[in-house]
Amino acid sequence: MLTIAAAQRALRNKEYSAKELTQAVVSRAKEKNPDINAYAELFDDAMASAEVADRMLSEGKAAPLAGIPLGVKDNMLMKGKISASGSKILMNHRAVYDATVIGKLRSAGAVIVGRTNMDEFAMGSSSETCAYGAVKNPIDISRVPGGSSGGSAAAVAMGGALGALGSDTGGSIRQPAAHCGVVGMKPTYGRVSRYGLMALASSLDQIGPFAKTVEDAEILYQAIEGHDPMDSTALTEKHESEKGEQKEKFTIGIPESFIAMDGIDEDVRENFRLIIEKLKGEGHEVKTVSLPSLPHALPVYYIIMPAEVSANLARYDGIRYGFSKEADTLMEVYRQSRGEGFGKEARRRILLGTYVLSAGYYDAYYNKAVAVRRLITEELMRTFSDVDLIATPTTPSPAFKLGEKMTDPLKMYLEDIFTVPANIAGIPGISVPSGTVLRDQTTLPVGIQFMAAPFSEDALFAIGKDVENVRI
Ligand code: GLN
Repeated sequence: MLTIAAAQRALRNKEYSAKELTQAVVSRAKEKNPDINAYAELFDDAMASAEVADRMLSEGKAAPLAGIPLGVKDNMLMKGKISASGSKILMNHRAVYDATVIGKLRSAGAVIVGRTNMDEFAMGSSSETCAYGAVKNPIDISRVPGGSSGGSAAAVAMGGALGALGSDTGGSIRQPAAHCGVVGMKPTYGRVSRYGLMALASSLDQIGPFAKTVEDAEILYQAIEGHDPMDSTALTEKHESEKGEQKEKFTIGIPESFIAMDGIDEDVRENFRLIIEKLKGEGHEVKTVSLPSLPHALPVYYIIMPAEVSANLARYDGIRYGFSKEADTLMEVYRQSRGEGFGKEARRRILLGTYVLSAGYYDAYYNKAVAVRRLITEELMRTFSDVDLIATPTTPSPAFKLGEKMTDPLKMYLEDIFTVPANIAGIPGISVPSGTVLRDQTTLPVGIQFMAAPFSEDALFAIGKDVENVRI
């Protein structure tokens, strides 16, 4: 398994060049993509970026990602390239500037090999609603890779990139990472600039890394985090909690009754318990925590999220960006462009969001959800005065079959039960492969999730590395 850390060393020792590495990764991506559909587009300028990286390397410039081939989700703007966010409405939309994270990757010397497929506008848990077709799970192509950043997870899992960026609004990095057997991490809200990330739900969205190992995820995270004057929510300073010594042994809180809920596969729960036992054996302390409002995170999410979606997606009107349908009146242009340009899930959420924000229902739904969001956040923050980390399985079950949940949106939404609380509270979370379960004679990966207090990304990386050491 070629990791970013190993490639960094090999490139510096001149064992191979960035061009040779890019060539190898791109040929692998080209070979696998017809089956997996991880990439919407492989860029023809990847070799030119590799040449720039080779120059950086030969001049001894210590750019941290010099020559590292990466994939980027189709909702992050790259100047001059199509950025479609997986939607028909934007399939002819070319970005006019680079997202901040893209600028950071470029100055770190990274080679962006292509844009990865995703659920339309990042709404979904299976990467099946993508305008470029469904993404398949590289471990079993009859199954979904998870979503919405399924293309980024699959690109890494199939060897078509050494790492990738995704966005996580309710679990879209952690859930596909678990389903594809890779590491996925959502930073604290505001840690990574959202400038140039197409907004889904602005109070929940956050960009983060996918990688094969926790160490690699940390390398990518360090390259993209930091204050950005272009994003007023991107934090400026190091937080108090980061100034102290990094702990090695943690107190891990387990929300027992949340994990005992119906709808979670028994073998997924067993794998979780096994890893927790092993971590205990390594000297970490384990405690039961009571988080009675956690089950409300999902319904709260599915009110706040569509509300923000309905506002954010209003700009796609057939006039300002992308797909436009000719019609006799302006109203008809809007109606037909949006009606045809957006897929079913996008339309469903726009309707839901408009409804919960409408004058008659605002107090009953949106305002209530905002109040419960505050309760959930306070409960989590109180818990973090007692424990360093909260652990859950990442998903209730392993990767499901293509088509299995497409006709039942509520089943699809339940996929996010463990991941949404972190977005609701703006705290960081990581999913690390924790072992496998068997379905139809196929071995499928599952993940363990850890959440931490705001700005405690370091604790997540530390515990993640311990999981890598103890898992079978
Ligand atoms: N699956 C969730 C949803 O459909 C999360 C999406 C995301 O994190 N972008 O909204």
